[in-house]
Amino acid sequence: MINRAKDEFYHLGGKLSVAWRKMISINKAKKLIDNESSQLGVESVDLQTSVGRILRETIVADTDLPPFDRSQMDGYAVVAADTLRKSARSKGISLKIVGESAAGRGWHRKLKSGEAVRIMTGAPVPDGADAVQKVELTREKDGFVTILEPTKKGQSIVRRAAEISRGTRIFKSGEVVTENMIASLAAFGFAKVKVGARPRVAILGTGSEIVDVAKKPRRDQIRNSNSAMLDVLCRNFGAETSALTQCGDDLTALKSAIRNPQSEILIITGGVSVGKYDHTKAALGELGAQIFFDRVCLKPGKPTVFAKLSKTLIFGLPGNPVSAAVTFHLFVRKAILKLQGATQTDLQHGHAVLAANSKAARERDTYLPARLETNKTGQLIAIPLKSQGSSDFVNFARADSLIFVPKGEMIKTGETAEIVLL
Ligand code: AMP
Ligand code: MG
Repeated sequence: MINRAKDEFYHLGGKLSVAWRKMISINKAKKLIDNESSQLGVESVDLQTSVGRILRETIVADTDLPPFDRSQMDGYAVVAADTLRKSARSKGISLKIVGESAAGRGWHRKLKSGEAVRIMTGAPVPDGADAVQKVELTREKDGFVTILEPTKKGQSIVRRAAEISRGTRIFKSGEVVTENMIASLAAFGFAKVKVGARPRVAILGTGSEIVDVAKKPRRDQIRNSNSAMLDVLCRNFGAETSALTQCGDDLTALKSAIRNPQSEILIITGGVSVGKYDHTKAALGELGAQIFFDRVCLKPGKPTVFAKLSKTLIFGLPGNPVSAAVTFHLFVRKAILKLQGATQTDLQHGHAVLAANSKAARERDTYLPARLETNKTGQLIAIPLKSQGSSDFVNFARADSLIFVPKGEMIKTGETAEIVLL
């Protein structure tokens, strides 16, 4: 009756209860999420509110920068050759001041040999001039200026288009808008920026032991850590979250909370495992959701579920807050970013030298919470955090990265390991 090669079955109280799918690799899980996450539409937002959103247009420079030859100094624009003559080198040279170029008020005639234009920082250098001597190395008197030291051609001038030329593509669709990009977007006239629409995420907690953060738990209860954490994480990556909901470990209640999902993404925490009161998968199954995976070769986060009901992507994350955080970063974050049109949806990764032995689970690829530091020689060091495991969110609070250790392996102190940045 049971095809063990395909699925394993789990018995509870004699009743056939949960049909496990095959445990899949982290990469396979990510691919399945990628396949199911299609881009939402585009919206136009004010420049200053675009940070953290995903750009959905190509940003092209509509002007050269600088747009004209620009003075870097307060001083005098001159013909460099005038100041380089033998007599000028020894005694300085007196030049007639023929005008002034200030920022926003340029002098637009052509400078000739023997002349100088008083110029301010940021002002256009007149045609004919090819150097600026700073005011500290000059003396002005009665309409003439003495240039006390010779100038080199190009001195203190930033040439037109030296930074960027008009028509250059600056940023691509799919990039995250960062604080550092705002000045450029402003410079090229993007008062409004086209970004991916925010996915709506609903967060549903399970667990009859869970009470609201503002409540005092009885001795067998615990406060809800996950919902607040996930709410913040979702919004950090551009999603819009609805009011947090919580249902106990009741199959009927869970089913009615999941039925008719209104958001693009639904995150359910807890109840994904094989306990008597873990109903998440049963609820999804009975509602006819398509389940793509329910076991990942991952520690922490093995019982993570990914499913779809109507058009809503559903993530069932383990209830332990560290597992919920890690699986959020690996999986849910990817979907949230992909829906907005992001090109880069994986965690940034790199390598660091381990400050302590790090061991993986025997049969699961393992991510261990860590903190990064640089040592005296500038090497990046990953310090694994002392942790009691996937329930220990207090120690996890200090993590800025995760050390990756392939299943069955141990990476020793002083060896290099792959890390991902949180
Ligand atoms: P579960 O995945 O439902 O088996 O839960 C695993 C562990 O995580 C249990 O110790 C739960 O009490 C705990 N847990 C579940 N949901 C939450 C939550 N929202 N906040 C804090 N801990 C939770
Ligand atoms: Mg539970």
